[in-house]
Amino acid sequence: MSKIKIATVWLDGCSGCHMSFLDMDERLLAIADKIDLVYSPLVDAKIFPENVDLTLVEGAVSNEDDLHKIKLVRSRTKLLMALGDCAVTSNVPGMRNYFSRDEILRRAYIENASVNQGIPTETIPQLLPKSKPIHEYVKVDIFVPGCPPHADIIFNAVAALLEGRLPDLENQARFG
Ligand code: SF4
Repeated sequence: MSKIKIATVWLDGCSGCHMSFLDMDERLLAIADKIDLVYSPLVDAKIFPENVDLTLVEGAVSNEDDLHKIKLVRSRTKLLMALGDCAVTSNVPGMRNYFSRDEILRRAYIENASVNQGIPTETIPQLLPKSKPIHEYVKVDIFVPGCPPHADIIFNAVAALLEGRLPDLENQARFG
């Protein structure tokens, strides 16, 4: 039987959701023979491949690079999972939405900078006006809230998908 191709993607998040993914510990071994991790911050793959079965996405869409990436990921993925509150609601990255983009850049690169003050115009992706959850840009198939979602919930969701059914997270996952 061919393995299920899985990817994980890190947009504007703190990596805590990926840490929770790793917290599945020995259960990762239990599913290891069923999956092929084809792209992730956890593996050395530079290009998001075609025909991925399931992608878990951590983080909100906050800059042009995030936006390009989530559209590419969606076009190459059968099932897309919003993993964690930042992906589901924009959560922590969304706290900047009360301020304008110029106010934020000025605060970060001029007011709070003790050296090399100045807003960069090259080498970093441009901020979008607001930080938004991924479903505002692309279709999301599974929402897994939590900050981060507990490893048990991630495992239950992935295990259900490996069995060919959608996970029922109603009484398991919660925000925060
Ligand atoms: Fe970090 Fe929480 Fe956002 Fe996950 S949901 S990336 S743990 S802040």
